[in-house]
Amino acid sequence: MRIDKYLANMKVGSRKEVHDLIKAKKVTVNGQLVKQAKQQVADTDIVKVADETIAYEQFHYFMLNKPAGVITATEDPQQKTVLDLIEHKDLYQGLSPVGRLDKDTTGLLLLTNDGQLNHNLLSPKKHVAKTYFVELDYEVSDKLIDNFAKGVTLADGTKVSPAQLNIDKDNKKQCFITIHEGKFHQIKRMFGLFDLGVVKLKRISMGNLSLDENLLLGKYRKLTKAEISALK
Ligand code: URA
Repeated sequence: MRIDKYLANMKVGSRKEVHDLIKAKKVTVNGQLVKQAKQQVADTDIVKVADETIAYEQFHYFMLNKPAGVITATEDPQQKTVLDLIEHKDLYQGLSPVGRLDKDTTGLLLLTNDGQLNHNLLSPKKHVAKTYFVELDYEVSDKLIDNFAKGVTLADGTKVSPAQLNIDKDNKKQCFITIHEGKFHQIKRMFGLFDLGVVKLKRISMGNLSLDENLLLGKYRKLTKAEISALK
């Protein structure tokens, strides 16, 4: 890979800023000054900018607080996608959402180009837990706790595995639900069986990863090393 691309990928700066750093003789590879932006580097080379080592990260991991109104896709000719929320998205080749949230669903969405992790988190065999905050149009009856715990059959005959429901004692239109699959519109269809409409749906966790409440809607941040290891 070209050194300017490497440094831009590692978020040292824009291509233009990286070129300025090279001109200013701040960049070395294996101790040798870099003179040209087109110089090739390998992942194993030791790249330094102003004496600071810039280690190559093959994979990128972001948590996004998905806002309503954007679709979970990498590109779309008409609609805004979650990838459009990522600055300099072209730097992160192969970056994709892990699973899908509906257009009107908000909250935790993981984006990565680590295909293995993406696959593992979605594999039905792994039963990764996903917890959502749900607001409904009517109060939820306590009997749904048992119904969902046993596993319900959706209107089209699809069986869903047991889910845990926690109803807010002070406001029975609100609850938390944990599911272990990701069937199309699963939560809306589960409540729909009991004539309840989902007014608000927000994912708050996936596996060991919880939404960082400091992230405003539409904002994202890199996962920490500890968060990445906890997901694997
Ligand atoms: N279940 C739904 O109905 N919608 C989502 O976005 C996620 C889970």
